[in-house]
Amino acid sequence: PPLPELDASLLQCTYADPSQLKPVLALDDPERQTQRVSTDHMIQAAWSTTKGWSAPTLTPYGPLSLMPSASCLHYATECFEGMKLYRGFDGKLRLFRPTLNCNRMLMSSTRIALPGFPPAELLKLILKLCATDGNRWLPPHQPGQFLYIRPTMIATDAAIGVQRPSEALLFIILTVLPPMDSVPGGVKLLASEDDMCRAWPGGFGYAKVGANYGPSLVAQGEARARGFDQILWLFGPEGVVTEAGASNFFVVWKEKETGKLQLVTNSLDRQIILDGITRRSVLDLARERLASTSSSSFNLEPLEIQERPFTMSEIALAAEENRLVEAFASGTAWFVAPVSKIQWKGKDIEVPMGEDGVMGGYTKAFKGWLRGIMYGEESERGNEWGVVV
Ligand code: PMP
Repeated sequence: PPLPELDASLLQCTYADPSQLKPVLALDDPERQTQRVSTDHMIQAAWSTTKGWSAPTLTPYGPLSLMPSASCLHYATECFEGMKLYRGFDGKLRLFRPTLNCNRMLMSSTRIALPGFPPAELLKLILKLCATDGNRWLPPHQPGQFLYIRPTMIATDAAIGVQRPSEALLFIILTVLPPMDSVPGGVKLLASEDDMCRAWPGGFGYAKVGANYGPSLVAQGEARARGFDQILWLFGPEGVVTEAGASNFFVVWKEKETGKLQLVTNSLDRQIILDGITRRSVLDLARERLASTSSSSFNLEPLEIQERPFTMSEIALAAEENRLVEAFASGTAWFVAPVSKIQWKGKDIEVPMGEDGVMGGYTKAFKGWLRGIMYGEESERGNEWGVVV
């Protein structure tokens, strides 16, 4: 008979005793900055090659028990997702396009020989955890706040052999992050040098696996020490622009020949960037609202939208010729963040930050639209992309 699938309807719940509930951090509590605080509960489900998926459990948040020989501790058999639970200005709790995260989690887990699962079941478990802890940790009288959701899968085999794991654990936690509204003065990027590369064709840079992140931290630490916020990851001898830290990267420039305004971001086909949900949403909104003359209703000139590999030299030339209009990073953490500077080969490229010096008009439009959808202020797209808990 087929082995049991992951099945959210089998969830067994053991709630924390009310006396064990942690104090909810105030918005200005410095402990938020530590990013070490999780909510009161977690969800887990175990898998093995012989038994399939076990019934998931919801329990008080607490440590995991693992053997020191567990596969994930040695061979990076780990993948995860990053999404947010938003308290809307209409009082509702919402997820943003969560099906895309669940599908991406499946793509990541199977890339590293972890088990598959029905993404819809993962979504049901995420919704259940959000419904359990969301109200206490995102009080309705404080709209505009969020919790960070971290679904994770690890191989737990207590076997040191280098082989496909035969045991795994899926878990979901909710964590408290500080407010992440904007990086003052815009994001400053340090372009990666030839000795460091985040992803390569045939690799796994397109998957959300832990193995992509640990090795990037040396470069990131160096960037921070030198006064930059993130690394702008380049690829190959031509310096193809891939991602900014753990975010996708966009530029708006005037095309040299035609003088047309273009929105450009790298394409997914070489598998060296993550298929970001914010990236997709920016592209969807751009195609819908800015691709034609109808965009004049937003007081913005229409944009030509391009998903293609582009290089650091193209950006440098556009800046030199005063054709660089804006640049921004996109991702769940900061959703749309204006970029003010890129240092490449020892030279600073200043990126225009709009008339108010805070962010350019396109960056502002994308940020505003996305915020409106996430926090329930826009129903047009919101009803389709927002999933109410
Ligand atoms: N690139 C990388 C490497 C990331 O880790 C993330 C964050 N998940 C992103 C891009 C942005 O993706 P998303 O918009 O889905 O958060």
